[in-house]
Amino acid sequence: PRKLLIVVTPTYDRALQGYYLNRLSEVLKLVKSPLLWIVVEMNVASAETADILRKTGVMYRHLVCSKNMTDIKDRGVHQRNVALEHIERHRLDGIVYFADDDNIYSLELFESISSIKTSECCWKGKKLRGRPGCSLPESRFGTWPVAMLAQSKSKAVLEGPVCNGSQVIGWHTNEKSKQLRRFHVDLSGFAFNSTILWDPKKWHRPTSDPIRQLDNVKEGFQLEVGNLLSDYLQETTFIEQIVEDESQMEAIPPGCSRVLNWHLHLEARGLVYPRGWMLQKNLAAV
Ligand code: UDP
Repeated sequence: PRKLLIVVTPTYDRALQGYYLNRLSEVLKLVKSPLLWIVVEMNVASAETADILRKTGVMYRHLVCSKNMTDIKDRGVHQRNVALEHIERHRLDGIVYFADDDNIYSLELFESISSIKTSECCWKGKKLRGRPGCSLPESRFGTWPVAMLAQSKSKAVLEGPVCNGSQVIGWHTNEKSKQLRRFHVDLSGFAFNSTILWDPKKWHRPTSDPIRQLDNVKEGFQLEVGNLLSDYLQETTFIEQIVEDESQMEAIPPGCSRVLNWHLHLEARGLVYPRGWMLQKNLAAV
């Protein structure tokens, strides 16, 4: 049987929220693997979000993060931590994926994630093999390239692994990011086995707690890359907690030959509505 897919989505009240959540839910409900959608809001579970979630037909949990956002740049960090804590507390066994509400995801992406060989396999030469007799590290982590797109620029930048078959052999990078990051992966470009969250012996954990680690990362380290602002350190610091090196990663789909999701940097502020629209919160309420 396929593992449970645990999709973690921080979301917040803004004009396009209804549109984003509906759009993401349309893809999620087509996924054939068992899937749990953990949607986390700040301070209060809004009636609008609850309404959208109820209607999707996707299995979900609607959580609330009560920790104050200390910085506008925190963008969902604490909410993701609330989801990780929930997964750990309830021992939800599955493959965790951080899917922001505003990005674009193909159905194929979720099918690929659910095929990540979580604990029963390891590298043998260039092939992933079954556990028995295998002395190489286990695969616990899947990664793939993400296309980063900015509203104002026509330029798309690829972020993520360079692959040979299922093996990660390098990263799409640039001069600035090379110095800062160990793993050049977008937050929407990896997924991992949830058992890591409660099994310190099984997984390599150099520091005490990967969840806290996600919190500690300062997003003040943002740098301009090809005119896209990318929050480098959050992802790489988190990933360094769960894998030692590329040998423990599995590239999906093999060869990383296709883009399966797109990270859009869109600005929802300043949106102009037609005259006469009654708009209180998000577009679901219109
Ligand atoms: N987010 C949130 N609260 C905020 C800002 C962002 O819950 O105050 C969520 C947002 O809904 C999205 C994720 O965090 O799911 C990433 O936010 P954003 O798209 O603004 O970041 P970017 O993609 O530009 O890095």
